[in-house]
Amino acid sequence: RHNPQRLLVTGGAGFIGANFCHYWLQQYPDQPLIVLDALRYAGNRHSLADLDALAGFRFVQGDINDTDLVMALLREHAIDTLVHFAAESHVDRSIHDPDAFIRANILGTHSLLRAARAVWLDSPRGPAPHRFHHISTDEVYGTLGPADPPFTENTPYAPNSPYAASKAAADHLVRSYQHTYGLRTSTSNCSNNYGPFHFPEKLIPLVIVNILHGRPLPIYGDGRQIRDWLYVEDHCRGIERILRQGEEGESYNIGGRNEWANIDIVQLICQHMDAAFAQNPGLAQRFPAAAPAQGQPSASLIHHVQDRPGHDRRYAINADKIARTLGFTPQTDFATGIARTIRWYLDHPAWWQGVMDGSYQQWLDTQYGAG
Ligand code: NAD
Repeated sequence: RHNPQRLLVTGGAGFIGANFCHYWLQQYPDQPLIVLDALRYAGNRHSLADLDALAGFRFVQGDINDTDLVMALLREHAIDTLVHFAAESHVDRSIHDPDAFIRANILGTHSLLRAARAVWLDSPRGPAPHRFHHISTDEVYGTLGPADPPFTENTPYAPNSPYAASKAAADHLVRSYQHTYGLRTSTSNCSNNYGPFHFPEKLIPLVIVNILHGRPLPIYGDGRQIRDWLYVEDHCRGIERILRQGEEGESYNIGGRNEWANIDIVQLICQHMDAAFAQNPGLAQRFPAAAPAQGQPSASLIHHVQDRPGHDRRYAINADKIARTLGFTPQTDFATGIARTIRWYLDHPAWWQGVMDGSYQQWLDTQYGAG
């Protein structure tokens, strides 16, 4: 069994990575945890600000394609566990600029594998205890018809978007390093996450902040695309379970057993937002442009737009393996998770306003230099 003590977390300033760092350091506040993140558009240094006070926490701005930097970090901090979140993650962007996805997701993962192999396996003192955990997605499995059974770990890969294809390629590279070189790896393929620190281009935070701005809520096509949704903290718990108890060389599906059509999620968020404004009159003063502050139901902002090309109709995940072998099941039901997420966005307007109005980027340029 692996005993993670000293972590390198790539992509730790992104949505799931930042939640994972908070989760891990709540459980193990004395452990060293180094974040390596290039602070691309979705990376937010502010998401990690309250961890700076911890002695073991360190943030390094850098690219996972910089293999020498990764090797130096693995050595300098005697890292035994690499948790790899860094990626280009937005399907729409992959349709417009697939090259960035090949660079970050395929070449970037390979750079990390090369560094890990060089430091952990090719050391003159013999192989060091280690684990390379790769975070992947259920999108590698393609799309499902309404009556198809959910994806299992044995479902053949059939990625449909450049994003999904780049993640599939990364999964195969990780697998090959286990089989070819004996690098100790594991992979998790997770369904859609939601929760705090989520960049407001993704469905759930987009709907919340657009309601607060009184802007239209764009719905692709008929809105009947189905996804499985998992509260991000449950994902983090699942990753912890795999790091501690998962078998090397294995992949694990993680999901919420929680399939929703996009349009139904949007309706649910609208109901929660209307109720929040009705219960708390102070919200209308803080967010005067919000639909409910203007006396409009949030759902009046719903606006159907042309569907995304090649849009997968349904993803659903069978997470029996991790439940059976590692005893892991998610704890947060959807109504609770959505309520918590909305509360977080209402309580942290500076975080998302800074992302959306460009002031975060200005701050970043003064800290780390433009570009
Ligand atoms: P995100 O876009 O919010 O964060 C990605 C992070 O990676 C950012 O901080 C970015 O700056 C960093 N990054 C990108 N390229 C980099 C590079 N070359 N070097 C260093 N850092 C780089 O993404 P997320 O939603 O947090 O997703 C994290 C991981 O989880 C991804 O691998 C994604 O494929 C996977 N995943 C996400 C979901 C989801 O619902 N969000 C579901 C399943 C799997």
